[in-house]
Amino acid sequence: MELADRLPFCPRCTYSLTGLPEAHQCPECGLPYDAESRMWVGSKKKGFGVEWVSLIVGIAFPLIFITVSLLTAIIVPTYRDWFIVFAVLHAALVPFAFYQWRRKQQAPPPFLAIMSDGVWYRINFSQNKFLLWKHVCDIKPIAKRKSLTLMFTVRSVWSVLVDSVFESKCDLQTAATEMERRVQRHQCADSHV
Ligand SMILES: [Zn+2]
Repeated sequence: MELADRLPFCPRCTYSLTGLPEAHQCPECGLPYDAESRMWVGSKKKGFGVEWVSLIVGIAFPLIFITVSLLTAIIVPTYRDWFIVFAVLHAALVPFAFYQWRRKQQAPPPFLAIMSDGVWYRINFSQNKFLLWKHVCDIKPIAKRKSLTLMFTVRSVWSVLVDSVFESKCDLQTAATEMERRVQRHQCADSHV
């Protein structure tokens, strides 16, 4: 598998790894990767609906409040100043909604990356997160009709659910098997020390 398909970008800093050797390090942040490193990247289309709804709601609500405030200011002259202040405050929400929408548009897609020392993942709009293999256990692929989720437990304390990343049951199963293999390898390595 080509590096571009296997590991299109660095899971730590999301810098593109296109054109680099099979096993090397990220030119931006120095994260090492090897021939066995690979990642599954979700499509951003799945977040598209949420982004647009937030933009529409973020702009529609201030517009409704601005209109109501201005109409009230015309109808009730006594409180005119107050209603104009309300209208201005709501107008300030419009660029904020637009900024949030842009931020989500530019955010990297969700992914799961299997590296030699641990797993990197990103869920929705959170930061890229990293866990060492020795802290990962109970890897479970959950394939339901509409969602393909990979669940794993961290230090037997809390669970991570990675979805919107896998395109097929086969992808999900491959990721689970690969993770299981690495977790076992690291447990074995630890027990020898
Ligand atoms: Zn990097």
